[in-house]
Amino acid sequence: MSLNLILMGLPGAGKGTQAEYIVKKYPVPHISTGDMFRAAIAGKTALGLKAKEFTDKGNLVPDEVTNGIVKERLSKDDTEDGYLLDGYPRTLEQADALEKMTKELGKELNAVLYIDVDPSVLTKRLTARYICKNCGATYNKLYHNPKVEGTCDVCGGHEFYQRADDKPEAVQNRLKVNTKMNTPLISYYKQRNLLYDVDGDRAITEVWKDVDKILGSL
Ligand SMILES: [Zn+2]
Repeated sequence: MSLNLILMGLPGAGKGTQAEYIVKKYPVPHISTGDMFRAAIAGKTALGLKAKEFTDKGNLVPDEVTNGIVKERLSKDDTEDGYLLDGYPRTLEQADALEKMTKELGKELNAVLYIDVDPSVLTKRLTARYICKNCGATYNKLYHNPKVEGTCDVCGGHEFYQRADDKPEAVQNRLKVNTKMNTPLISYYKQRNLLYDVDGDRAITEVWKDVDKILGSL
């Protein structure tokens, strides 16, 4: 039985870590959209070159090109025992295209894992990073503060700042955009009885135990 999977979750939910655990234990390649595009462009495939035309101009790659790149990737032999898609599909149109191509390839989905963490918890996680103004050392309010409060461990500096990306407004906006994108996909896969909701607001190893149990039951 192969494991044909999608991994979903908001930024900061710990998707990357769970993906690492999954590919360590199960014989499935981790297929992230970014890697797939880079490989198609580097390999100068027809679709890769087409995608490059759009990204070079700073435009979004249209669905038909993205779907084609995914299909090429899923046609490869290393997905015989399964695959772990990450970052695709992003829209219902892409989800429909995926359903169609996996049917054609005989590699239909078995499960969609959603690492579920409340956005307010993620806001706390994602805004926790701060940086020494003097030397650039990175700290985290939740689990890595300087040994002496307010004094950089590395350089002894006293001034710290937060990167624009890590500020509450930017983080909340990122979470909002992603929630809006995920919500229809979650209903789509729920309707197809493929969705597994995993409580991601726990220690990494606890989350992994659940993920492992789900994959073992498929
Ligand atoms: Zn410093």
